[in-house]
Amino acid sequence: MNGRKRIAIYGGTFDPVHIGHIEVAKRVSELFEIDELLFVPAQVAPHKLTRPVTPGIHRYAMLVLATQEDPRLRVSTFELEAPDRCYTVDTLAHFKSEFGESADLFFVMGSDSWSEITTWREWDRLLTLVNHIVVTRPGYDISLDLVNSSLRDRIVVLRGSKQIPKVVNEAAGEKIYITDAVMLESSATEIRGALREGDWSQLTRLVPSSVANYIRKYELYRESNER
Ligand code: ATP
Repeated sequence: MNGRKRIAIYGGTFDPVHIGHIEVAKRVSELFEIDELLFVPAQVAPHKLTRPVTPGIHRYAMLVLATQEDPRLRVSTFELEAPDRCYTVDTLAHFKSEFGESADLFFVMGSDSWSEITTWREWDRLLTLVNHIVVTRPGYDISLDLVNSSLRDRIVVLRGSKQIPKVVNEAAGEKIYITDAVMLESSATEIRGALREGDWSQLTRLVPSSVANYIRKYELYRESNER
């Protein structure tokens, strides 16, 4: 290791945060020896404008509850407070300049996000700004052919390996790690769908209990809310 802190940034809508997100955060933190993992809820995910999103304050509160017991996991308000700069590339540039040389940064995404990566704003710059960790998700294969050969050279496939990757050849630049350390079906769309249908039976299995209580208390995801 190079003595720098390892900070992971986990962006998303988190509407709501679920067991899959928490498991990804914990496993990635262990596997990559992450000192601090920052959940960064989006103000409005640019590629998800087709549906109303639960107000940021609720999504933030649920993340705080879900991460309360793990000192490595924290929640950032950066995107919620900067709605005019809501693209991931801007967020990563912000954290990179904030932490400077004091930290190695890793952006965490699921394989569904990876499969759309070339639609993200300035995606090729984004992929070289910081390290990336792509986590497998059922139903989404990870294609390495999405990106050009110079980006492909940065890909380190850790499938089947549960080991901490040593930062190999730093001079070659930031890496794109692919890991199958987590394989969970959880999906916020499915949770919202079930709640809208009035099916609350699975809620405590799908989200942390503190989040389930919050959803009940504040009556989120009811049919009339259309989320
Ligand atoms: P939605 O169904 O509303 O799209 P989601 O469950 O995919 O929500 P997001 O908030 O969009 O959750 O996800 C944030 C990040 O977490 C994304 O990079 C996504 O790929 C990743 N992610 C979400 N669920 C999983 C999972 N079960 N396994 C691996 N990655 C996941």
